[in-house]
Amino acid sequence: MNYIVKGIGGFYYVRTPEGVVECKARGIFRKRGITPVAGDNVALSPDGTMIDEILPRKNVFIRPPIANLDVLFIVASTTQPVPSTLVLDQLTAAAIYKDVQPVLVVTKADLAAADQLAQAYAGSGIPLVQLHYDTGEGLDEIRAMIEGKLCAFCGNSGVGKSTLLNALAPELKRETGQISQKLGRGRHTTREVEIFEVSGGRLADTPGFASLEAQKLCRIPKEDLQHTFPEFGPYFGQCRFTGCSHRSETGCAVRQAVEEGKIGKTRYASYLAMYEEASARKEWER
Ligand code: ZN
Repeated sequence: MNYIVKGIGGFYYVRTPEGVVECKARGIFRKRGITPVAGDNVALSPDGTMIDEILPRKNVFIRPPIANLDVLFIVASTTQPVPSTLVLDQLTAAAIYKDVQPVLVVTKADLAAADQLAQAYAGSGIPLVQLHYDTGEGLDEIRAMIEGKLCAFCGNSGVGKSTLLNALAPELKRETGQISQKLGRGRHTTREVEIFEVSGGRLADTPGFASLEAQKLCRIPKEDLQHTFPEFGPYFGQCRFTGCSHRSETGCAVRQAVEEGKIGKTRYASYLAMYEEASARKEWER
């Protein structure tokens, strides 16, 4: 399968069975308002210089510009900086909403804090990997998840995201800590998304996506939020009222599951906060 490795200044670098070739895109895409992005599976013209067709996408993100993402590794540190469970829940929800498998990677694993996170996500079905750089524990688990998939990493600076990328793909030779220091917030990033083949899968290096900003990934309508918390699933249809928003309604099975400790308290708190946020959103922001 041919796919776009990187797009820069109107040129696209497409990996083909014969190697990477430089292409341009047909004008028809611009007319249709479609921008080819890294991760797009494409068909080339017979001479191999034009992108003739973009194959149907599983998903597409604007920031960072990438298509067909399978796995999003959300890298969080249990010590400085301490993760906000709300931010982590916003990111896992955004991933699930876009049909991407979220995986939490906990670095600098302080035992107590890591246990707390592990507990919060225990019933969620969202995998959580504890990573120990000194022993390399957790790396193989991550490598296994990369195999055959297109993956991206996100995490605030200081959580060890570049250390992790270096450990997984030493050939990329990223400078540790270079990421978000150089790229001022809100400014145009100077580097493009680029995809590398690593551990039998593909890793997207997404320089503009250093910080944990779920809002950039997508906005989830409030009615759809419940479906981005997998542990709510078993209780759907058991609430007293159809169309229950699982907030303050009496006879809500989701809330009862929270009270019985079957759903994590921080997870439910995030759901409520995200519901409020989505309700307050203006029409044009949706
Ligand atoms: Zn309910």
